[in-house]
Amino acid sequence: MLQQTQAPRVIEPWRRFLEALPTPGACAVAPRSTVISLWGGLGYNRRAGYLHDAARAVVDEFAGRVPEDPAALRRLPGVGSYTANAVASFAFGAPVGVLDTNVGRILARAIANRPLGRAEAQRLADELVRGVASAAHNQAMLDLGAQFCTATPRCVTCPLARRCAWRAEGGDDPARHSAAVSVRQSAFAGSDRQLRGRIVALLREGPARLDVVVAHVDEPQARVEVLVASLIADGLVERAKGEVRLAGDPRERTR
Ligand code: SF4
Repeated sequence: MLQQTQAPRVIEPWRRFLEALPTPGACAVAPRSTVISLWGGLGYNRRAGYLHDAARAVVDEFAGRVPEDPAALRRLPGVGSYTANAVASFAFGAPVGVLDTNVGRILARAIANRPLGRAEAQRLADELVRGVASAAHNQAMLDLGAQFCTATPRCVTCPLARRCAWRAEGGDDPARHSAAVSVRQSAFAGSDRQLRGRIVALLREGPARLDVVVAHVDEPQARVEVLVASLIADGLVERAKGEVRLAGDPRERTR
């Protein structure tokens, strides 16, 4: 839920979600449409599908208990190295570095003072966590990256200032060319991502005829058909009897 979504926006949906589906087992047996509906307000609906699939895999392959090992976590649908290491560190104290864009900037600037490839940055992040309290260390790194070592760094007040290699040695900003540092995302307005979100938001209220979906999205029918097809391919939506609905939604058509 926190991937690319700010914490204040996540708190309420997170509480709502855990109240309704408090365990991987409860999530695994819930209809897809329930999981997608509970995801309302968080965007990136594909993650709701991944979470549902991951809950089922936790039940099927790990007897309902979330695995502690990062390699086992990475086998779950939708879980990459960032999420696997974050869960392993914050939930279980595993000695692995959590590498996101913010941490990637700190490593390139404060430690290496040169651009880092992703594998190299991950190795460095793992080295730093050895012998220290994993969760506290990773949280401190994430906070430093979010509060001080931002795209335009706040070096004057940064707690690492006296030990920062880039500040001591100077040169071009090494973070700008580091693989672990993300580039700016393409515009959201009018994007497929935005329109897919609008379709799912409409279907949370109940199934709808395709022409109702087209009118709601206010785009040519051909484009809406492609968007609906992509949502079907992602397992979020179904199409039957001339209507579109969230996957597994048992409700009768409302529009
Ligand atoms: S001193 Fe500046 S560049 Fe170095 S870690 Fe702090 S904010 Fe980043």
